Amino acid sequence: MNEKTIIVPDHYKRFVCAADSCPDTCCKGWDIVVDDETLAFYREKGDKRLLERIAPDSDGDMVITFENGVCPFLEGGLCSVQKRYGERRICTTCRVFPRVCHDYTEFEERLLTLACPETARLMIVGREDFRELDGLRVSRTDNGYLREYMNFLLAVRERTFSLLRSDEPFVQKMKSVFSFTEHAQALIDNEIFDEARLDGCPDLSFCGTVQDRARIFGLHSRLDVMDENWLAEAVSCKDEALPDSIDGELASLVLYYAARYTLTAVSSYDVITTIKRAWCAAVVCGALISRENAENDPLRRALIYQKYSKEIEHSDENLDIMTDEFLCGELSSQRMIGNY
Ligand code: SF4
Repeated sequence: MNEKTIIVPDHYKRFVCAADSCPDTCCKGWDIVVDDETLAFYREKGDKRLLERIAPDSDGDMVITFENGVCPFLEGGLCSVQKRYGERRICTTCRVFPRVCHDYTEFEERLLTLACPETARLMIVGREDFRELDGLRVSRTDNGYLREYMNFLLAVRERTFSLLRSDEPFVQKMKSVFSFTEHAQALIDNEIFDEARLDGCPDLSFCGTVQDRARIFGLHSRLDVMDENWLAEAVSCKDEALPDSIDGELASLVLYYAARYTLTAVSSYDVITTIKRAWCAAVVCGALISRENAENDPLRRALIYQKYSKEIEHSDENLDIMTDEFLCGELSSQRMIGNY
């Protein structure tokens, strides 16, 4: 049998849920889908209190019905279902969060999502550099994707990481990342999956057209969020500068996006959207940090990164709107770093 390589970064192992000390809790705002096996267990137990609160949503999924945006089983910041039946008997969504598994057949990457205050503190405020994801290549031809293409994408991600780990100021790094990713995207568009051609990126010094950052905030004003007040506040920050003191954190934010999403191009053939999404996250979070004078407040900054992730990164609707905008709208020009 072929062995699978499993990559588990150190920060993943260090994650510990803040439980009742969590300033947010994952049970706030999101729909929680209850998987069939867990639902069958609750039915077998005849637990009316639980079953009365689980109903089909518009897609037919069985979800927990929230009260005022909060899970009805949350008691004093702790899960009462877990207390009663143990961790194994809470639904998969709750048991697994904030862990995510990216399975590429020959290898699997276990990562953390940013939509939790504790992971935001660990990965972004803690300036994670994702070194454990370096050096990967596939050798098998039965993975369900083209081996040469996956190896090309792994090389693209590695080089993006190394640009982001440089000592340059953040905006300078991003200019190099944009130039490099445009080059990689052009190779993909021409079906040239040759790692050696990545060395031929002609110019890492950015010289593109200026795009008003107002367009980035304008795009956000059209997104679908749970918390309209947060969005209004975020959009109103469009004239705030990126604080230099958090350069390292913003680089980690882009590293996180590159780590999680570059390889999705194995089916989308799109690497530039990941970098544009990451740049948007850095611009909006940086502006919010400036507005709130949170440069010296790591907990507040973690919550700003987490909230952006929960509202924007983890919404399929928002991903569709942003991808359309990046591919066909005002921000479709490759260059969107503009006036920074
Ligand atoms: S958001 Fe994170 S820290 Fe908070 S309860 Fe959920 S997993 Fe724990």
